[in-house]
Amino acid sequence: MILTNIFVLKDNYIWILYNKDHSCIIIDPGVSDLIIEKINQQKWSPKAILLTHFHKDHTNGVKNIIKKFPNIIVFGPEETKNYNVNKIIKGGDRICLLKNNIYVISTPGHTLGHVSYYLKPYLFCGDTLFSAGCGRVFQNNYLNMYNSIQLIKSFPDNTILCCSHEYTLSNLIFSMLFLPEDKNIKIYYKKVQKKIFLKKNIFPFYLNNEKKINLFLRTDEIYSKKRIGFEKCKNSFEIFYYLRKRKDKFWS
Ligand SMILES: [Zn+2]
Repeated sequence: MILTNIFVLKDNYIWILYNKDHSCIIIDPGVSDLIIEKINQQKWSPKAILLTHFHKDHTNGVKNIIKKFPNIIVFGPEETKNYNVNKIIKGGDRICLLKNNIYVISTPGHTLGHVSYYLKPYLFCGDTLFSAGCGRVFQNNYLNMYNSIQLIKSFPDNTILCCSHEYTLSNLIFSMLFLPEDKNIKIYYKKVQKKIFLKKNIFPFYLNNEKKINLFLRTDEIYSKKRIGFEKCKNSFEIFYYLRKRKDKFWS
């Protein structure tokens, strides 16, 4: 399986997996035009769409794509049932597509029914985790979001996070407000800045690097090392809650 992405809207990644016989799977198509154009250009035969959650910037393209390719099967959690989904899936399910097993992982928090899809080494984690950051928490679902992030942290180090938004630079600037002396964050920030300047793709995001630079994956460490600025937080979850609330007010 080969992975590619298309950058759409302001900052969305749409992911496409394809194989040598030109079959493909599309993850979270927030738009249709660019996807259909790419499919035609590459002479791909789309077999399925996977949806992580119901937000429009992840689902808006579904209707037109299936109009053009009516045999596509659309998989999604219960909350996406009104978005042309024909197979409702839930955490723990296994989907077999293009001769590969794709595991559905329940990752609530950004929305109540958010799921991620794991096809080793790729984790399509939607709006749960971003490089150097994490998604917003709607419906006051903070504990679920924290647990989902802890679950992702337990995946193999070589897991490649296929997130749905590109906020890396802004996330790193935010992180440096809290850990200004952190070497790993500084190095990664310079690397990302350089790639942006050279108009290069920032991806891939490896979990082992994220564990070093993503504050939301480091709440245990921040707590145990009693980092300055977090004195009022009584545990790792409270650090997560504090950081997420602060990030909501930070420009991005
Ligand atoms: Zn979303």
